[in-house]
Amino acid sequence: MADTLPTLKQQLAQLVASPSVSATDPKLDMGNRGVVDLLAAWLETLGFSVELMPLPGQPHKANMIATLSSGGPADGGLVLAGHTDTVPYDDGRWQSDPFKLDDRDNRFYGLGSTDMKGFFPIAIEAARTFVGKPLRQPLIILATADEETSMDGARALVEAARPRARYAVIGEPTGLKPIHMHKGMMMESIRITGRAGHSSNPALGASALEAMHDAISTLLRVRAEWQAQYRNPGFAVPVPTMNLGCIHGGDNPNRICGHAELQFDVRPLPGMPLDELRAELDRRLHAAVADEKISLEYGPIFRGTEAFAQERTAELVRVAEKLTGHSAESVAFATEAPYFKSMGMDTIVLGPGDIDQAHQPDEYLGQDRIQPMVKVLEGLIAQFCL
Ligand SMILES: [Zn+2]
Repeated sequence: MADTLPTLKQQLAQLVASPSVSATDPKLDMGNRGVVDLLAAWLETLGFSVELMPLPGQPHKANMIATLSSGGPADGGLVLAGHTDTVPYDDGRWQSDPFKLDDRDNRFYGLGSTDMKGFFPIAIEAARTFVGKPLRQPLIILATADEETSMDGARALVEAARPRARYAVIGEPTGLKPIHMHKGMMMESIRITGRAGHSSNPALGASALEAMHDAISTLLRVRAEWQAQYRNPGFAVPVPTMNLGCIHGGDNPNRICGHAELQFDVRPLPGMPLDELRAELDRRLHAAVADEKISLEYGPIFRGTEAFAQERTAELVRVAEKLTGHSAESVAFATEAPYFKSMGMDTIVLGPGDIDQAHQPDEYLGQDRIQPMVKVLEGLIAQFCL
């Protein structure tokens, strides 16, 4: 193990060079052990005590919890958190090798540079300032697995109730602005099975397509009700949304449609827990399609993410606003924040990159973002750990 720490640029280059693509397609999906092993080695060099938590049933994926403390009782502490995985990439559309950090035009190009491997060397740089100083509360650098797909890393942390801390900052790309709210997201499907038959005699079958018509009418009614009931002016789109994204069914004009499937998404506001929304949809859809010749299955395509809201009056929000010079805002993308919040931590999302750069070919982190972000993190650590 290295006794001296690589420079910030060398660290970023090594993190980018360690592939950690998360994908729902198993052919593209990779582990993240290379990334967490690098972070673990650097943080141990700095004097952090490091723990790796392999994900249940997925030993090639792990969370890392690295803690710097001066001993003593730890009922507080600050978490600087980031995910270690990236989305897949379009090789042909990159100007440079996505796994080779390219330093050009005052930018660091590379897959994950902004979303969000770039956050870790910055957090390590900020942490260095505090090594050897007596800390009243621990500083925890946390690296999670699988944020881009299942959020299994964050789920495993909640399951284990780790880490225990009072505050969390997630370094997702927010352009150095503190974020205290985002909507949730769920993707759902409705599958209706009827009975196919010759169209000349409707009694010979049961139309899944006509039942789907009733199901869709119900969805649109529920959407209108939710939009009348819930509103939050802190979001660019101040109401919860529901998008009917795709539909498939039937095969021929002269056959009764035996099967139809609809997929849709919902973006709930804070205060709209996913399990309550799902229970309501389940009840209303089954009531709308109550025909013994028709069966309706409704359920999630994946588990989804809760909405997130941190009270603006929280000390963490106020300190972050002061250090960045920006009022806390909302964003349109989902993060691991609701998981940290559910463990009792005051949580904000605040990072150096830009979301426009995320999930794009030629992803980069502007080098002018690095020092300001180091300063902001140093300010947060000083406030909550010293
Ligand atoms: Zn991200």
